[in-house]
Amino acid sequence: MTVPDMTKEHDLVYEGKAKRVYRTQDPRHYLVEFKDDATAQDGRKKGQIRGKGAVNCQVSAVLFSHLASRSIPTHFIRLESENTMVVRRLSMLPLEVVVRNIVAGSLAKRLGIAEGTKPAFPMVEFYYKDDALGDPLVVEDHIVALGIAARDVVASLREASCAVNRELAPFLAERGLTLVDFKLEFGWCDGGLVLGDEISPDTCRLWDSATGERLDKDRFRRDMGGIEEAYTEVLRRLTGRA
Ligand code: UDP
Repeated sequence: MTVPDMTKEHDLVYEGKAKRVYRTQDPRHYLVEFKDDATAQDGRKKGQIRGKGAVNCQVSAVLFSHLASRSIPTHFIRLESENTMVVRRLSMLPLEVVVRNIVAGSLAKRLGIAEGTKPAFPMVEFYYKDDALGDPLVVEDHIVALGIAARDVVASLREASCAVNRELAPFLAERGLTLVDFKLEFGWCDGGLVLGDEISPDTCRLWDSATGERLDKDRFRRDMGGIEEAYTEVLRRLTGRA
């Protein structure tokens, strides 16, 4: 593959809050560049986390590779540099799927339940991707009746997300990380659903299994400090590298 010229505007397909996506010479593939920019509170809180792009890219590469080794299809093909990866081009669904093993964040707030509460089983939620609306929570009937996705697709998304959870939770636990919750995004490729986007400390809650220390974006959201160190620690636990 020839690496796109990342200074050329025509190679840029999309720029989001945390990533830039570029065309490559192969129309089936994109190059994803992970940025150090961080946002929270629907974009109202902005900042930079030094080295975040490189950590999120490499953490995602490790976790996508693990999932692929367990027969879960993902868009990841290979790392191109420390903060870029080559991926399969997907046609993305406008949905975010959140899986929760432990109550935290928005759920704790909305239902008035203490963070750290363990539900009877992992809970799956769907959010409609729309920045202007602040990615609202939707139920299955909204998704189906309003034509966002068919009922069997919703069932497949739920199943695939639970399969990801069954693979990642023990993988991370072996590395001293409790997978509290996480967000996934899926797209279509060659007629099948494929996991896309990223799986990183930006999109997962990861608590140190021994101390309960937060090693994820909550440090940024809640102005806790030690953000770079937490991200680097996650990468170190997954790869042995810092
Ligand atoms: N999450 C995400 N992107 C979003 C919203 C949530 O990656 O736009 C992740 C978040 O990092 C956490 C999980 O999804 O791991 C559940 O987030 P929650 O609904 O508690 O929202 P938050 O507290 O992050 O606003």
